[in-house]
Amino acid sequence: MTISRATFDLAVVGAGILGLSCALAAARRNLKVVVIERSPLAQGASVRNFGLISVTGQDPDTIWPLARRTRDVWEEMAAKAGIAILQRGVWIPAQRLESAAVLEAFIRTETAEGCELLSAAAALSRCPELQTRGLQAVLWSPHDLRVESRAAIPALASWLAREHGVTFLWETAVREADAPVVQTSRGPVAAGMVVVCPGDDLETLFPEQIKAAGISRCTLQMLRLESPGFVLPGTLMSDLSLVRYGGFAELPEAAILRRRLLQDQPEYFQHGIHLLVAQGGDGRLVVGDSHHYGAAPVVFSEERVAELLLEEYRAVTGRPAPAIRERWMGTYAVAQGRTVLIEAPAARTRLVMVTSGIGASTGFAIGEQVITDLFA
Ligand SMILES: Cc1cc2nc3c(=O)[nH]c(=O)nc-3n(C[C@H](O)[C@H](O)[C@H](O)COP(=O)(O)OP(=O)(O)OC[C@H]3O[C@@H](n4cnc5c(N)ncnc54)[C@H](O)[C@@H]3O)c2cc1C
Repeated sequence: MTISRATFDLAVVGAGILGLSCALAAARRNLKVVVIERSPLAQGASVRNFGLISVTGQDPDTIWPLARRTRDVWEEMAAKAGIAILQRGVWIPAQRLESAAVLEAFIRTETAEGCELLSAAAALSRCPELQTRGLQAVLWSPHDLRVESRAAIPALASWLAREHGVTFLWETAVREADAPVVQTSRGPVAAGMVVVCPGDDLETLFPEQIKAAGISRCTLQMLRLESPGFVLPGTLMSDLSLVRYGGFAELPEAAILRRRLLQDQPEYFQHGIHLLVAQGGDGRLVVGDSHHYGAAPVVFSEERVAELLLEEYRAVTGRPAPAIRERWMGTYAVAQGRTVLIEAPAARTRLVMVTSGIGASTGFAIGEQVITDLFA
């Protein structure tokens, strides 16, 4: 059986954000592209995430440059593919003197360009939803964007098919990904080059390379809450984010904050929780997340994680959390100390995995790098 008689310049395995990013970069070079996805629609991390295109506080050497380029491509694609940018910018209220010290150090760094460190009073006039008690200072950054991923990813795939003639083979699992013939569950596909973007599937394609790179999985718990009755003027974080994102966490001041948070909120560290509150067009809030690491994805959600997230929401907004309307789990590939894996298991094949849980914020830039390298 042959599912496509065409010969493609590039076959991309996986229709998550990384696969679509590679397809976009190749299509822009007028290459003939096929995307092969085992599910009827993308269902992996790319549609389960916050949809936060996160620039602020990202590691200045590794993630930040990728995130800035990726953010610009999201802006462009949003306009072209009809993807709504639902929020612009991030608010990080410092609830402790130690977190204010981290923000004061951050604002002096190069990556803080365009950000503002506001007094509590100045911040409240622009973001009145913040808890006032104990508020020391607030960082406002205009750089980050937020999309609703479960709408954005299908919209991007449809646009690639419509505008660039990218072929999508859904419900088609790839069993062998060696150019010039990709073996799939529905027959062979001919392609000059192959890029494999398998997300957190660590077992099907190139498992030896993935194991050798020390890649494992991270499971996250997420909540969608009823609309709180107000509009957040940006995505909200808390002190916990300042010991998580490298651009903050690597500052010397963050070590002092970490010690304080470990004393105040030890359970949050046990579950790898930091708070992100994003808002959709319908007013509902996406609230997360936790991080549990291991070879196998965690399949049972812990109610205590949801309780802790809602407590932190209360601490940051000073208001009770609205009712939970949806819960879900997500998993991504992770490797200690590595942002992205780009391997060449064969001359005309690339294996590409974001291993730092930040693929929505880095994918477009990584796709451009991979395609430039392959077709240079
Ligand atoms: C809960 C959660 C919140 C997150 N929040 C953010 C955020 O706000 N900002 C951010 O930047 N990042 C965030 N991330 C991380 C980000 O979502 C991931 O880094 C990114 O989606 C990875 O994209 P991907 O395309 O590599 O993987 P995926 O989206 O998992 O896609 C991989 C695809 O490959 C397919 N596939 C695998 N093997 C085969 C095969 N053999 N044949 C055919 N198809 C195959 C799978 O079915 C899947 O559709 C979050 C992740 C999670 C889970």
